[in-house]
Amino acid sequence: METARDRCVIVHYHEISLKRGNRPLFLRRLQQNLVRALEDLGAPRVTQLTGRIVLEPPPGADPEVVVERLRHVFGVANLALAERTGTSLEELKRGVDRVTQGRTFASFRITARRAFKTLPHTSVELNRELGAHVLGRHATRVDLEQSELNIHVEVLPGQAFVYGGRRPGPGGLPVGVSGTVAALLSGGIDSPVAAWRLMKRGCRVVFVHFHSVPYLPDDSIRKARDLAERLTRWQYYSRLSLVPFGEIQRSVVLAVPGPARVVIYRRLMMRIAEALGRRAGAAALVTGDSLGQVASQTLQNLACIEGAAGLPVLRPLIGMDKLEITAQAQVLGTFETSIEPDADCCTLFVPKHPGTRVSREEAAAMEARLDVAALVAQGVEGAREETIAFPPGSGPYPAKENREARAAGSRPR
Ligand code: ATP
Ligand code: MG
Repeated sequence: METARDRCVIVHYHEISLKRGNRPLFLRRLQQNLVRALEDLGAPRVTQLTGRIVLEPPPGADPEVVVERLRHVFGVANLALAERTGTSLEELKRGVDRVTQGRTFASFRITARRAFKTLPHTSVELNRELGAHVLGRHATRVDLEQSELNIHVEVLPGQAFVYGGRRPGPGGLPVGVSGTVAALLSGGIDSPVAAWRLMKRGCRVVFVHFHSVPYLPDDSIRKARDLAERLTRWQYYSRLSLVPFGEIQRSVVLAVPGPARVVIYRRLMMRIAEALGRRAGAAALVTGDSLGQVASQTLQNLACIEGAAGLPVLRPLIGMDKLEITAQAQVLGTFETSIEPDADCCTLFVPKHPGTRVSREEAAAMEARLDVAALVAQGVEGAREETIAFPPGSGPYPAKENREARAAGSRPR
């Protein structure tokens, strides 16, 4: 008699992306993240097997909800809801029955795999026996190349798993294995996509948003909060720093002529984001720049802006065009928020024709008229930090995980 515990999720990851030394950290972090993604549903039982992880859903949790949650865990290549059975032929047949129950499929195949060659029944025998069993119970045919239903049977010592159809995961690396970065999050389309791409490469992302309240309404703050919330389901816990930037912009306007202002604003943003990011252990900054998209994104201006940062500036979207970025934002579900109208701080005190080539020397000359250190301090001290958790109500990362993530960010890979 099968119990709820006999329904498991088999999680596959791409072993190919694992360098030997990183493997234990990768697997530990993947396992922690799988558990964290289900925190409000209860505690799953998790077992590592060769090349995959078996997760028994928390008692009482809807397996479909569990699978949907786990499909958002980076590092998961694919997953499947599986029936756990014994290894005798009769038990395997019953497992196949449970998987095929109530389904109609024009064609199928059995894909049997044995963990050890010493187990009874070769894979070929299993394919034949179980295939004949299915043919005896369903109006269907065998198609090895293009089956509508591929029934996987994995036999291990003492237990076996039977499942039909794998669902793709997001791929990438488990969040936390690559360290922490600080993303400059505007309310626009690009920066949330940029932040997500770094999460996919195993980074925890802290968000920094610049707003111009009270010179402008707080729409951009609400958008940034909304976007950060949406992205948090991929990393479980986020910090969002809201930096009042209007007063700083006013100081710039008094000293810097129109065409160079956008670049000077951005250089100040870099410095403030760096200071806030370093407090959170960030080893790099992230922006949503795409080459040539707007005046501030020429090579000359990007170089000039980057010159103000004391951390590497990562721009994962640099070679993408707007259509590609938009398509990605739609899949992520950030697009709808990003296109809501707002008055971004960069629309404040900006000339109609911003300069497309500001050199580092020009920028330095203009900044000599400002008290840059004081402006940066004003931004950093005025920043207000909010935290966001997913699932709602779950807590920050445990201290041990934080230490590991910091170490991961600085370790050569
Ligand atoms: P986005 O769609 O991300 O706003 P964009 O195409 O509008 O990008 P810009 O407005 O020039 O381009 O901004 C370039 C990058 O600078 C943004 O992707 C973001 O990383 C950062 N940035 C711009 N404005 C802000 C802001 N108000 N707060 C935080 N970061 C910002
Ligand atoms: Mg923008």
